[in-house]
Amino acid sequence: MKKTPRGAGEGALSIGVMGGTFDPIHYGHLVAAESAYESFCLSRVLFVPAGDPPHKQPQEVTAASHRLEMTRLAVADNPHFHASSIEVDRDGVSYTIDTMRCFRRKFGPDARLYFITGVDAVLQIPEWHNAEGLLEICSFIAATRPGYPLSEVIRFKEQLPSHHRERITVLEVPALAISSTDLRHRVSSGRSIKYLVPEPVEEYIRREELYR
Ligand code: NAP
Repeated sequence: MKKTPRGAGEGALSIGVMGGTFDPIHYGHLVAAESAYESFCLSRVLFVPAGDPPHKQPQEVTAASHRLEMTRLAVADNPHFHASSIEVDRDGVSYTIDTMRCFRRKFGPDARLYFITGVDAVLQIPEWHNAEGLLEICSFIAATRPGYPLSEVIRFKEQLPSHHRERITVLEVPALAISSTDLRHRVSSGRSIKYLVPEPVEEYIRREELYR
């Protein structure tokens, strides 16, 4: 991929929007964001915990305030990472199109917007609210892990019209073998999550007695 100097020239603002339930946020998410930041010469990455995820029942998900706080703690030591409460503050179901429209207004028509998320989530995009509109206003970075069957993503992209196909790039991220589901199971069965999440997140989970 051709790299351009970060922040150089007119309209060079490139914003990564890292979307996820982040229940909890872990090093896989952070490595994926850092890797996207580097590979796509992003100006910054905004971490957006889903307030009310459209595809999950509210009782399946930890309170948004906890997920936002863990996200804030996780990104605090990285100057080009920021936590955004945009979806947590917004009433109703957290549709990605609404979030990206807000960022489009905020950063202007020339900014490049990249929505970064897991490849499994990207494969579901056609079912998302106003998927067509979303692919018009931003590009997608699909974070995957080594050994992931890329044939699935290739088949998925082939089914899209060509102007949408080029909107999706796959980014292979080594540490994504960590999963939030596994972390919740580990905590509930009294196993360690040390070195899988940043220490302040681990402390927060312990203090707030999450995932017991
Ligand atoms: P998910 O189904 O929980 O996650 C799918 C897979 O992607 C999981 O393996 C997950 O790992 C991984 N993943 C999730 N976010 C990631 C990230 N930022 N970077 C790398 N891997 C990531 O999907 P989700 O997290 O709830 O949803 C992902 C995003 O899509 C959210 O922002 C959500 O709001 C959006 N979404 C929008 C719509 C819509 O607008 N209608 C519908 C569905 C999803 P972990 O479990 O370890 O995170």
